[in-house]
Amino acid sequence: MNDACEHCGVLYADLQHAGLNELHRCRACSAESCDKCVTHEYVSSQVAFLHCPKCGSDRLDKLDLRDRFSIFTSLADLIAKSDAVAMLYVSWSAYPRRNEPITIAALEKLDTSRPHFALLDEEDSGVRTAVADWFPEIANADVPLGNGSLIWISSGHPVVYRHGGPYLALLDVLETSRQVWGNNAMHDESPSRGY
Ligand SMILES: [Zn+2]
Ligand SMILES: [Zn+2]
Repeated sequence: MNDACEHCGVLYADLQHAGLNELHRCRACSAESCDKCVTHEYVSSQVAFLHCPKCGSDRLDKLDLRDRFSIFTSLADLIAKSDAVAMLYVSWSAYPRRNEPITIAALEKLDTSRPHFALLDEEDSGVRTAVADWFPEIANADVPLGNGSLIWISSGHPVVYRHGGPYLALLDVLETSRQVWGNNAMHDESPSRGY
């Protein structure tokens, strides 16, 4: 199975992070291209015919990337990881894209315990319901918030929920990880910010 657009080589994970879930498969040469690679022939400002970037054929089938590839971890798999930090992800908000690399960088600074990092699909109402069950005083299941909020899973139990948004800092993630998994993290002198 491919894990990248065979035309431009952009990773499926990156396409999905950006919400670009449409693929086009050519019936003539069977090349697959992402929505950026497919050739758009504009016949008006509104209407474009799509062509295969490899052979030029207009006989294309639309595929959904999510049918065969996912950046997301299921709730069952997440709990099975035992120790993990999970982030609620949507592609339409800048906060998850901001907070994901910050969180990964923080987890890499942990000395001994190296929890798994996972993305949860916040567009999935089942995910939102589970999170609201875990943290009824904080989370709400109605709509995806797009804050890139974080959940710490320790020994298979969700233990801490932390709002994401624009102010989440690497030290916040480090501090919380220390509190959850003990004082194994690298030393630094910053005061705790609490929750
Ligand atoms: Zn491509
Ligand atoms: Zn083709």
